[in-house]
Amino acid sequence: MTLKLADPVVVPGGADARCDDVSRAGIGSGITIENVTKRYGAFVAADRICLDIQPGEFVTLLGPSGSGKTTLLNLLAGFQRVDGGEIRVDGKPIQNVPVHKRGFGMVFQSYALFPNMTVAQNVSFPMRMAGISRADSDRRVAETLEMMQLSDSAAKMPSEMSGGQQQRVAIARSIVMRPKVVLMDEPLSALDRRLRESIQMEIRDLHRTIGSTFLFVTHDQSEALTMSDRIAVMDAGRIIQVDRPETIYRQPCNRFVAGFVGESNLIDAEIVRREGAALVLRTKTGHTFRSPAPEEVSGRNVTVLVRPERLILSDMPGQESIPARVKSALFLGEILRIEVTLDSGETLLVRCSDSAGQTLPAPGSMVHVSWGMSDGWVLA
Ligand code: ATP
Repeated sequence: MTLKLADPVVVPGGADARCDDVSRAGIGSGITIENVTKRYGAFVAADRICLDIQPGEFVTLLGPSGSGKTTLLNLLAGFQRVDGGEIRVDGKPIQNVPVHKRGFGMVFQSYALFPNMTVAQNVSFPMRMAGISRADSDRRVAETLEMMQLSDSAAKMPSEMSGGQQQRVAIARSIVMRPKVVLMDEPLSALDRRLRESIQMEIRDLHRTIGSTFLFVTHDQSEALTMSDRIAVMDAGRIIQVDRPETIYRQPCNRFVAGFVGESNLIDAEIVRREGAALVLRTKTGHTFRSPAPEEVSGRNVTVLVRPERLILSDMPGQESIPARVKSALFLGEILRIEVTLDSGETLLVRCSDSAGQTLPAPGSMVHVSWGMSDGWVLA
């Protein structure tokens, strides 16, 4: 049979996998990335990256285009060689292990299916390559197709399927051998929003079912927040912060993470004094407010992050409120999106949920903006 394939396919599980390796859902591998560096000429694409991934964890690499996400994934997969540092899987260095012996499942943005094979043949391909018996392979393929809601499509050709269905086939093929590690590089970016959201949930459920370690690459912050146990935010070849999604969103370590993940209001303020666990701060407009004090703070000037949904607008002034003028107000269905301008010229974005009787404030009208003490996060 002639294989026609746009992209290389890696056989999940490796050629020396045994059937009893794949007959049960097991816990994934632990991965240690230690000071890993990759250079292209003088350009450093991965800069002394350190990341510990727990067995069975779902970790997402999130960052803007060119931040080094695919480079790191390729180093782990074995498509690229590291120039410095070490990658260990379950404690064993893997630098000298060839791609096909690493036994990882992989999914790419381009589905990379064999166009001249049916869905079932595509999914069974890694098992055939591993020499697994027909009976075992058939059983596992049927089980995996059912998991991915593809049972009715087993006999179809890829050309008869939508993009979302083809990506499901590619995912099914990547997990059919129950690899201990699954690497996914922007697998959903070619799909429309609705489909993306539904496959995100499927991947999340799949991860829970098979228990493998998942490393997922995306530049879509909502995808990362939805799916991950932890997110590693990357910029310029480095990991800037690794944390649980809610920590990344609520307590970003710097302006870059605050700005990249979610919408943010960054308010410049000066420290007036410390009051126990809080800082008393003064805005450029001369208004004071309190925020929880960070562990360390250097200098007198700080930036305070307040997420748009934490801001409160009122007609009347209140304690620690700041007067502002409405710049724009939009009704977006379930939320209202309102921009207000402070006397300092700073613009703040406010998002509030729609409720009965609520009216949009008129552009140009005066309002008072405030937030609770624990809603501000002082950035280091
Ligand atoms: P995207 O989201 O756009 O895929 P990314 O975060 O995955 O971006 P990488 O593909 O890892 O980024 O690329 C990181 C940097 O390394 C980029 O500046 C890219 O141009 C550079 N780079 C990647 N591969 C090569 C290569 N083979 N030769 C030279 N430079 C490369």
